Amino acid sequence: MADLLGTEAAKAIQEKIRTELSEYEGRTPCLGIVRVGERPDDLAYEKSAVKRIESLGMAVRKFTFAEDVTDAEFKEEFRHINNDPGVDGILMFSPLPKNIDEKKVLSIMNPEKDIDGLSLTNQALVYSGGPGGFAPCTAEAVIRMIDFAGIDLTGKKVTVVGRGKVIGKPVSMLLIGRNATVTLCHSKTKDLREECRAADILVVAMGRARMIDASYVSEGAVVIDVGINVDEEGNLCGDTDYESVSKVASLITPVPRGVGSVTTTVLAQHLLRAAKGNLCG
Ligand code: NAP
Repeated sequence: MADLLGTEAAKAIQEKIRTELSEYEGRTPCLGIVRVGERPDDLAYEKSAVKRIESLGMAVRKFTFAEDVTDAEFKEEFRHINNDPGVDGILMFSPLPKNIDEKKVLSIMNPEKDIDGLSLTNQALVYSGGPGGFAPCTAEAVIRMIDFAGIDLTGKKVTVVGRGKVIGKPVSMLLIGRNATVTLCHSKTKDLREECRAADILVVAMGRARMIDASYVSEGAVVIDVGINVDEEGNLCGDTDYESVSKVASLITPVPRGVGSVTTTVLAQHLLRAAKGNLCG
Protein backbone atom coordinates (compact mmCIF):
# COMPACT_ATOMS: atom_id res chain seq x y z
CA MET A 1 0.00 0.00 0.00
CA ALA A 2 1.10 3.55 -0.71
CA ASP A 3 -0.33 6.91 0.25
CA LEU A 4 -1.66 9.04 -2.57
CA LEU A 5 -0.70 12.45 -1.27
CA GLY A 6 -2.75 15.49 -2.18
CA THR A 7 0.12 17.69 -1.15
CA GLU A 8 2.25 16.18 -3.96
CA ALA A 9 -0.54 16.35 -6.56
CA ALA A 10 -1.19 19.99 -5.58
CA LYS A 11 2.47 20.95 -6.06
CA ALA A 12 2.41 19.76 -9.66
CA ILE A 13 -0.73 21.82 -10.42
CA GLN A 14 0.70 24.87 -8.63
CA GLU A 15 3.73 24.81 -10.91
CA LYS A 16 1.42 25.00 -13.93
CA ILE A 17 -0.52 27.90 -12.37
CA ARG A 18 2.71 29.84 -11.70
CA THR A 19 3.83 29.40 -15.30
CA GLU A 20 0.43 30.43 -16.69
CA LEU A 21 0.28 33.44 -14.37
CA SER A 22 3.74 34.61 -15.41
CA GLU A 23 2.54 34.61 -19.03
CA TYR A 24 -0.81 36.27 -18.25
CA GLU A 25 -0.92 39.92 -19.23
CA GLY A 26 -4.13 40.99 -17.44
CA ARG A 27 -4.28 42.48 -13.95
CA THR A 28 -3.85 40.27 -10.88
CA PRO A 29 -6.82 37.86 -10.67
CA CYS A 30 -8.99 38.50 -7.62
CA LEU A 31 -11.13 36.05 -5.64
CA GLY A 32 -14.22 37.39 -3.85
CA ILE A 33 -15.08 35.34 -0.78
CA VAL A 34 -18.72 35.62 0.29
CA ARG A 35 -19.44 34.32 3.77
CA VAL A 36 -22.52 34.67 5.97
CA GLY A 37 -21.94 33.92 9.66
CA GLU A 38 -18.92 32.22 11.18
CA ARG A 39 -19.29 28.45 10.84
CA PRO A 40 -15.99 26.83 11.91
CA ASP A 41 -15.84 24.70 8.70
CA ASP A 42 -16.26 27.80 6.52
CA LEU A 43 -13.60 29.70 8.48
CA ALA A 44 -11.15 26.81 8.18
CA TYR A 45 -11.70 26.50 4.43
CA GLU A 46 -11.53 30.28 3.98
CA LYS A 47 -8.18 30.38 5.77
CA SER A 48 -6.64 27.73 3.55
CA ALA A 49 -8.17 29.24 0.38
CA VAL A 50 -6.76 32.69 1.19
CA LYS A 51 -3.35 31.19 1.96
CA ARG A 52 -3.27 29.23 -1.31
CA ILE A 53 -4.51 32.07 -3.57
CA GLU A 54 -2.10 34.61 -2.04
CA SER A 55 0.85 32.22 -2.09
CA LEU A 56 0.36 31.93 -5.84
CA GLY A 57 0.41 35.71 -6.25
CA MET A 58 -3.32 36.31 -6.71
CA ALA A 59 -5.59 38.57 -4.67
CA VAL A 60 -8.52 38.01 -2.29
CA ARG A 61 -11.33 40.30 -1.15
CA LYS A 62 -13.63 39.18 1.64
CA PHE A 63 -17.34 40.07 1.80
CA THR A 64 -18.71 38.93 5.13
CA PHE A 65 -22.22 39.22 6.51
CA ALA A 66 -23.84 38.74 9.90
CA GLU A 67 -25.93 35.58 10.29
CA ASP A 68 -29.11 37.70 10.57
CA VAL A 69 -28.60 39.68 7.34
CA THR A 70 -31.94 40.00 5.54
CA ASP A 71 -32.64 38.35 2.23
CA ALA A 72 -33.04 41.75 0.54
CA GLU A 73 -29.82 43.23 2.01
CA PHE A 74 -27.80 40.17 1.09
CA LYS A 75 -29.12 40.01 -2.48
CA GLU A 76 -28.41 43.69 -3.06
CA GLU A 77 -24.81 43.33 -1.86
CA PHE A 78 -24.39 40.09 -3.77
CA ARG A 79 -25.48 41.82 -7.00
CA HIS A 80 -22.72 44.44 -6.48
CA ILE A 81 -20.09 41.74 -5.95
CA ASN A 82 -21.39 39.78 -8.93
CA ASN A 83 -21.16 42.86 -11.17
CA ASP A 84 -17.87 44.19 -9.77
CA PRO A 85 -15.31 44.04 -12.60
CA GLY A 86 -12.55 43.84 -9.96
CA VAL A 87 -13.81 40.44 -8.77
CA ASP A 88 -12.96 37.65 -11.19
CA GLY A 89 -14.22 34.64 -9.26
CA ILE A 90 -16.60 34.11 -6.36
CA LEU A 91 -16.35 31.54 -3.58
CA MET A 92 -19.66 31.65 -1.71
CA PHE A 93 -20.07 29.43 1.33
CA SER A 94 -23.14 27.24 1.18
CA PRO A 95 -25.62 26.56 2.66
CA LEU A 96 -26.68 30.14 3.32
CA PRO A 97 -28.85 30.71 6.41
CA LYS A 98 -32.49 29.72 5.93
CA ASN A 99 -33.66 33.35 5.83
CA ILE A 100 -31.85 33.82 2.50
CA ASP A 101 -33.28 32.37 -0.70
CA GLU A 102 -30.15 30.51 -1.81
CA LYS A 103 -31.72 29.17 -5.01
CA LYS A 104 -32.47 32.72 -6.11
CA VAL A 105 -28.93 33.86 -5.25
CA LEU A 106 -27.48 31.00 -7.31
CA SER A 107 -29.78 31.85 -10.19
CA ILE A 108 -28.32 35.36 -10.37
CA MET A 109 -24.68 34.31 -9.86
CA ASN A 110 -22.66 35.02 -12.99
CA PRO A 111 -21.58 31.53 -14.17
CA GLU A 112 -18.31 33.01 -15.45
CA LYS A 113 -17.45 33.97 -11.84
CA ASP A 114 -18.95 30.87 -10.24
CA ILE A 115 -15.62 29.08 -9.84
CA ASP A 116 -16.94 26.52 -7.34
CA GLY A 117 -19.62 25.29 -9.73
CA LEU A 118 -22.76 26.04 -7.71
CA SER A 119 -24.88 27.79 -10.34
CA LEU A 120 -27.39 25.94 -12.51
CA THR A 121 -25.50 26.92 -15.67
CA ASN A 122 -22.31 25.31 -14.41
CA GLN A 123 -24.18 22.26 -13.18
CA ALA A 124 -25.75 21.90 -16.64
CA LEU A 125 -22.38 22.27 -18.38
CA VAL A 126 -20.71 19.73 -16.11
CA TYR A 127 -23.62 17.27 -16.11
CA SER A 128 -23.98 17.42 -19.89
CA GLY A 129 -20.29 16.56 -20.24
CA GLY A 130 -19.13 20.04 -21.27
CA PRO A 131 -17.25 21.46 -22.97
CA GLY A 132 -16.37 23.85 -20.21
CA GLY A 133 -18.20 24.87 -17.07
CA PHE A 134 -16.72 25.02 -13.61
CA ALA A 135 -17.11 21.79 -11.61
CA PRO A 136 -17.13 22.08 -7.81
CA CYS A 137 -13.45 22.27 -6.83
CA THR A 138 -13.52 19.20 -4.55
CA ALA A 139 -15.12 17.01 -7.22
CA GLU A 140 -12.48 18.10 -9.71
CA ALA A 141 -9.75 17.57 -7.09
CA VAL A 142 -10.72 13.87 -6.94
CA ILE A 143 -10.14 13.54 -10.69
CA ARG A 144 -6.82 15.42 -10.41
CA MET A 145 -5.66 12.98 -7.73
CA ILE A 146 -6.51 10.01 -9.95
CA ASP A 147 -4.69 11.66 -12.88
CA PHE A 148 -1.70 12.38 -10.67
CA ALA A 149 -1.56 8.68 -9.76
CA GLY A 150 -1.37 7.91 -13.49
CA ILE A 151 -4.56 5.84 -13.49
CA ASP A 152 -6.49 5.50 -16.76
CA LEU A 153 -10.17 5.56 -15.79
CA THR A 154 -11.41 3.98 -19.02
CA GLY A 155 -13.45 0.88 -18.19
CA LYS A 156 -12.63 1.02 -14.48
CA LYS A 157 -15.39 0.18 -12.00
CA VAL A 158 -15.74 3.16 -9.69
CA THR A 159 -18.07 3.20 -6.71
CA VAL A 160 -18.89 6.63 -5.32
CA VAL A 161 -20.39 6.71 -1.83
CA GLY A 162 -22.43 9.88 -1.22
CA ARG A 163 -24.71 11.77 -3.62
CA GLY A 164 -24.14 15.28 -2.28
CA LYS A 165 -24.29 18.16 -4.75
CA VAL A 166 -20.68 19.33 -4.29
CA ILE A 167 -18.92 15.95 -4.43
CA GLY A 168 -20.87 12.73 -5.03
CA LYS A 169 -23.08 13.81 -7.94
CA PRO A 170 -20.62 15.99 -9.86
CA VAL A 171 -17.69 13.61 -9.38
CA SER A 172 -19.85 10.78 -10.79
CA MET A 173 -20.46 12.88 -13.89
CA LEU A 174 -16.77 13.71 -14.26
CA LEU A 175 -15.88 10.02 -13.89
CA ILE A 176 -18.45 9.02 -16.53
CA GLY A 177 -16.89 11.67 -18.78
CA ARG A 178 -13.62 9.75 -18.38
CA ASN A 179 -15.29 6.48 -19.45
CA ALA A 180 -15.41 4.90 -16.00
CA THR A 181 -18.33 2.62 -15.10
CA VAL A 182 -19.84 4.36 -12.09
CA THR A 183 -22.06 3.11 -9.27
CA LEU A 184 -23.40 5.93 -7.08
CA CYS A 185 -24.36 4.87 -3.55
CA HIS A 186 -26.15 6.67 -0.71
CA SER A 187 -27.83 6.01 2.60
CA LYS A 188 -30.62 3.93 1.00
CA THR A 189 -28.26 1.68 -0.97
CA LYS A 190 -28.83 -2.02 -0.26
CA ASP A 191 -25.63 -3.83 0.65
CA LEU A 192 -23.22 -0.92 0.49
CA ARG A 193 -20.36 -3.25 1.42
CA GLU A 194 -20.80 -5.37 -1.73
CA GLU A 195 -21.13 -2.29 -3.98
CA CYS A 196 -17.86 -0.99 -2.52
CA ARG A 197 -16.09 -4.35 -2.79
CA ALA A 198 -16.92 -4.48 -6.52
CA ALA A 199 -14.91 -1.33 -7.16
CA ASP A 200 -11.47 -0.91 -8.70
CA ILE A 201 -11.62 2.64 -7.35
CA LEU A 202 -13.67 3.70 -4.33
CA VAL A 203 -14.51 7.39 -3.84
CA VAL A 204 -16.02 8.09 -0.41
CA ALA A 205 -17.79 11.38 0.41
CA MET A 206 -20.27 10.75 3.21
CA GLY A 207 -19.22 12.66 6.29
CA ARG A 208 -19.21 9.49 8.48
CA ALA A 209 -15.99 9.26 10.48
CA ARG A 210 -14.02 6.06 9.67
CA MET A 211 -17.14 4.12 8.61
CA ILE A 212 -15.52 2.38 5.63
CA ASP A 213 -13.20 -0.30 6.96
CA ALA A 214 -11.23 -3.02 5.16
CA SER A 215 -14.33 -5.23 4.79
CA TYR A 216 -15.65 -2.70 2.20
CA VAL A 217 -12.49 -2.71 0.08
CA SER A 218 -11.24 -5.38 -2.30
CA GLU A 219 -7.56 -6.28 -2.36
CA GLY A 220 -5.58 -3.80 -4.46
CA ALA A 221 -8.35 -1.22 -4.89
CA VAL A 222 -7.61 2.53 -4.95
CA VAL A 223 -9.40 4.51 -2.24
CA ILE A 224 -10.04 8.24 -2.48
CA ASP A 225 -11.34 9.50 0.85
CA VAL A 226 -13.00 12.90 0.56
CA GLY A 227 -14.53 12.95 4.03
CA ILE A 228 -13.34 15.49 6.58
CA ASN A 229 -14.53 14.70 10.08
CA VAL A 230 -13.45 15.35 13.63
CA ASP A 231 -13.38 12.21 15.79
CA GLU A 232 -14.29 11.91 19.47
CA GLU A 233 -10.74 12.87 20.50
CA GLY A 234 -10.85 15.98 18.34
CA ASN A 235 -8.61 14.58 15.60
CA LEU A 236 -9.23 15.13 11.90
CA CYS A 237 -10.16 11.92 10.05
CA GLY A 238 -11.74 10.73 6.84
CA ASP A 239 -14.72 8.49 6.08
CA THR A 240 -12.42 5.48 5.84
CA ASP A 241 -10.68 3.70 8.65
CA TYR A 242 -7.16 4.39 7.40
CA GLU A 243 -5.50 1.80 9.67
CA SER A 244 -7.47 -1.16 8.33
CA VAL A 245 -8.10 0.02 4.74
CA SER A 246 -4.43 0.79 4.13
CA LYS A 247 -3.71 -2.94 4.64
CA VAL A 248 -5.80 -3.96 1.58
CA ALA A 249 -5.85 -0.92 -0.74
CA SER A 250 -3.04 -0.40 -3.26
CA LEU A 251 -3.33 3.39 -2.92
CA ILE A 252 -5.19 5.51 -0.36
CA THR A 253 -5.53 9.24 0.20
CA PRO A 254 -4.85 10.11 3.85
CA VAL A 255 -6.81 12.71 5.82
CA PRO A 256 -5.33 15.29 6.28
CA ARG A 257 -2.89 15.73 3.33
CA GLY A 258 -5.29 14.11 0.88
CA VAL A 259 -8.01 15.52 -1.38
CA GLY A 260 -8.44 18.67 0.74
CA SER A 261 -4.92 19.77 -0.19
CA VAL A 262 -5.83 19.73 -3.89
CA THR A 263 -9.20 21.49 -3.53
CA THR A 264 -7.79 24.99 -2.89
CA THR A 265 -5.28 24.54 -5.70
CA VAL A 266 -8.11 23.70 -8.13
CA LEU A 267 -9.87 26.82 -6.81
CA ALA A 268 -6.78 28.88 -7.71
CA GLN A 269 -6.69 27.34 -11.19
CA HIS A 270 -10.37 28.11 -11.70
CA LEU A 271 -9.77 31.70 -10.59
CA LEU A 272 -7.10 32.19 -13.23
CA ARG A 273 -9.37 30.62 -15.85
CA ALA A 274 -12.22 32.95 -14.82
CA ALA A 275 -9.90 35.99 -15.01
CA LYS A 276 -9.13 34.94 -18.58
CA GLY A 277 -12.89 34.78 -19.26
CA ASN A 278 -12.59 31.11 -20.05
CA LEU A 279 -15.84 29.48 -18.88
CA CYS A 280 -15.83 27.20 -21.90
CA GLY A 281 -12.13 26.35 -21.77
P1 NAP B 1 -23.63 15.68 2.01
O1 NAP B 1 -24.09 16.61 0.94
O2 NAP B 1 -24.28 15.72 3.34
O3 NAP B 1 -23.79 14.19 1.41
C1 NAP B 1 -23.50 13.08 2.18
C2 NAP B 1 -23.90 11.85 1.39
O4 NAP B 1 -23.49 10.70 2.10
C3 NAP B 1 -25.40 11.74 1.14
O5 NAP B 1 -25.66 11.41 -0.20
C4 NAP B 1 -25.82 10.60 2.08
O6 NAP B 1 -26.88 9.82 1.58
C5 NAP B 1 -24.56 9.78 2.12
N1 NAP B 1 -24.50 8.98 3.34
C6 NAP B 1 -24.51 9.42 4.62
N2 NAP B 1 -24.45 8.38 5.47
C7 NAP B 1 -24.38 7.27 4.72
C8 NAP B 1 -24.31 5.89 5.01
N3 NAP B 1 -24.29 5.43 6.27
N4 NAP B 1 -24.26 5.02 3.97
C9 NAP B 1 -24.26 5.46 2.70
N5 NAP B 1 -24.33 6.76 2.35
C10 NAP B 1 -24.41 7.66 3.35
O7 NAP B 1 -22.08 15.83 2.29
P2 NAP B 1 -20.94 16.43 1.32
O8 NAP B 1 -21.03 17.92 1.31
O9 NAP B 1 -20.97 15.70 0.02
O10 NAP B 1 -19.64 16.07 2.18
C11 NAP B 1 -19.22 14.74 2.38
C12 NAP B 1 -17.92 14.73 3.15
O11 NAP B 1 -16.92 15.40 2.39
C13 NAP B 1 -17.95 15.47 4.49
O12 NAP B 1 -17.13 14.78 5.42
C14 NAP B 1 -17.34 16.83 4.18
O13 NAP B 1 -16.73 17.42 5.31
C15 NAP B 1 -16.28 16.42 3.18
N6 NAP B 1 -15.81 17.50 2.29
C16 NAP B 1 -14.49 17.48 1.97
C17 NAP B 1 -13.98 18.45 1.13
C18 NAP B 1 -12.52 18.39 0.76
O14 NAP B 1 -11.98 19.34 0.22
N7 NAP B 1 -11.85 17.25 1.01
C19 NAP B 1 -14.80 19.46 0.62
C20 NAP B 1 -16.16 19.43 0.94
C21 NAP B 1 -16.66 18.45 1.79
P3 NAP B 1 -28.40 10.41 1.36
O15 NAP B 1 -28.31 11.28 0.15
O16 NAP B 1 -29.21 9.20 1.14
O17 NAP B 1 -28.73 11.17 2.61
